[in-house]
Amino acid sequence: AVTPPHPTIRVRPLTCTETRRGDQQVVHSLGDGAVHVSAARHDATFGFSAVFDAGSSQEAVFEGSGMRQLVELAIDGFSCTVFAFGQTGSGKTYTLMGPLAQTVPRVQLPVLLQSQGRLVSGGERWAEDAARLGQGCWGVMQSILPPAGSQRRRTSAHALNRHSSRSHALLTVHIRTRSRAVSAHLLLGRAGGPGLGAGVSGCPSKQGTLCFVDLAGSERVKETGSTGELSVEANSINRSLLALGHCISLLANPRGKRTHIPYRDSKLTRLLARSLGGSGITLMVACISPSSHCLSETLSTLHYASRARRVTTRP
Ligand code: ADP
Ligand code: MG
Repeated sequence: AVTPPHPTIRVRPLTCTETRRGDQQVVHSLGDGAVHVSAARHDATFGFSAVFDAGSSQEAVFEGSGMRQLVELAIDGFSCTVFAFGQTGSGKTYTLMGPLAQTVPRVQLPVLLQSQGRLVSGGERWAEDAARLGQGCWGVMQSILPPAGSQRRRTSAHALNRHSSRSHALLTVHIRTRSRAVSAHLLLGRAGGPGLGAGVSGCPSKQGTLCFVDLAGSERVKETGSTGELSVEANSINRSLLALGHCISLLANPRGKRTHIPYRDSKLTRLLARSLGGSGITLMVACISPSSHCLSETLSTLHYASRARRVTTRP
């Protein structure tokens, strides 16, 4: 069994609204993966493999959280998933997509592929579009992803976040790597390896996936001031997150190895079944706000992340 990288914690900076309101900063990174939460009646320290505080850049998170490693594993034929979770407004979308102006996740995939001298096959549609637009894979992602994904995603404004994501968003990139010269060692020795098979042209190929999951935030209807349709949405978001939390608890329970995991309880857990408990490699990024106002949600995210830490998969 291989343990997936432990959850990474990202603490965003206080927003202008929080600063104006005079919120206290109650979350502090102590270094070495320790994060300290201190408020009037709370004083707790949690340990993780990495904690990124308000001053951390996107690059630092990409490099230090294991995301780069995950991209490399996907190129090597593994099924990889990175998912961001946390309260609404905690910085999940920002972490996966970058500042609002940017519409593509910061995977630096083409750069990485080029630097490793590998061949990229983006699937027929991508290949066609790439030819038509005279662009590489990166350009195609920029031209296809916004209309196909981000713009279809429901967002609306409420009290906690002006661009709150009102649905979970999943983006899966299928990566097929074809090597021109492959040694007999690779052919014989790793025939049963991850996603290794004969390519269309007779060249052996490896097929991996890289899946980005930007979960809609959990929210307390009372705090966001959602009513009507919005509160129905909030409830169904919360229901699927609850199902996810339930699966994670069962997977994290060492005695529960033979327990039935209710992946079918929600569409979300059904889609994530492979990433969570199967043959995938999963990296979780728990996003939290440093504000005293978000204290209880922050504590519940940190507890959730601590549980997720104990889940193992067999890639
Ligand atoms: P979520 O997706 O968790 O609901 P967002 O990613 O939309 O939250 O972030 C909420 C707000 O905080 C946005 O205005 C975003 O630009 C800002 N923000 C989040 N993380 C950071 C960060 N690390 N640095 C600067 N601003 C951030
Ligand atoms: Mg979001």
